Amino acid sequence: LPEIEHVRIALTAEKPVRRILAVASGKGGVGKSTLAANLALALKRQGVKVGLVDADIYGPSQPQILGNTGAKPEAREKQLIPLIGAGELPVLSIGHLVPAGKALAWRGPMTGGALTQLIEADWGDAEVLVVDLPPGTGDVQLTMIQKHRPAGVVLVSTPQDLALIDAARAGQLFDGAGVPIIGLVENMSGYACPHCGEVSDPFGSGGVEQAAERLELPFLGRIPLSMAIRERSDAGTPPALEENELSAPFDAIAASVAS
Ligand code: ADP
Repeated sequence: LPEIEHVRIALTAEKPVRRILAVASGKGGVGKSTLAANLALALKRQGVKVGLVDADIYGPSQPQILGNTGAKPEAREKQLIPLIGAGELPVLSIGHLVPAGKALAWRGPMTGGALTQLIEADWGDAEVLVVDLPPGTGDVQLTMIQKHRPAGVVLVSTPQDLALIDAARAGQLFDGAGVPIIGLVENMSGYACPHCGEVSDPFGSGGVEQAAERLELPFLGRIPLSMAIRERSDAGTPPALEENELSAPFDAIAASVAS
């Protein structure tokens, strides 16, 4: 990757322009959706008008994370109207458009079309749309890049080598298309035993920061592996709903991506 300066999403454009902040990963299961939801909630608490698009066609998890599984968005003149999730966050997910539990076997043009429907919904005065992308480098990413031009992308990875290699690959796709990489986030780094408090590193720790250094990309922070993060995400009450110990890493990342 070529040298990239630290990019922030400018929110102070003279006329309001909606900016897309993509959250991407090389692999599934590394916490991309968790980051996208909590980043959006942290931005909202910081006063940014924000909406969340869940474009993860393989495993849309925002309805569960934001506690509105089974809700169906209405449409006005063929334009979808976002639902309101936990923390009053406007949200639309692929999972809101298809019956729960149904596998999606869509071909490229359909996935691109679904993404466009979600992004071109009636987002009102939202300044930033956080988009939770599917993992990897497929059709949704290409539509995202070619048609919707994100203002920037945040890459999330766990600290292991394999996840990192995949994250770098996803980064190359965006970088090659001229989409600024805002930085890398390390998720599931360091686990504090709830019984004795001892911190261990099931997936290692520090690998993402080192990779960011190697790739000359900003490192945005690390999110600990925490049972409470998982439990709150499953329960539809994500940790960044309010300011607390668990929201702190998300708050810091939010402060460094938008200004
Ligand atoms: P992805 O979007 O990359 O597939 P998810 O955000 O859905 O990943 O996370 C996968 C699983 O890991 C979920 O059950 C989620 O609650 C859990 N998880 C994500 N981040 C953490 C964390 N920091 N600590 C504990 N569990 C986490």
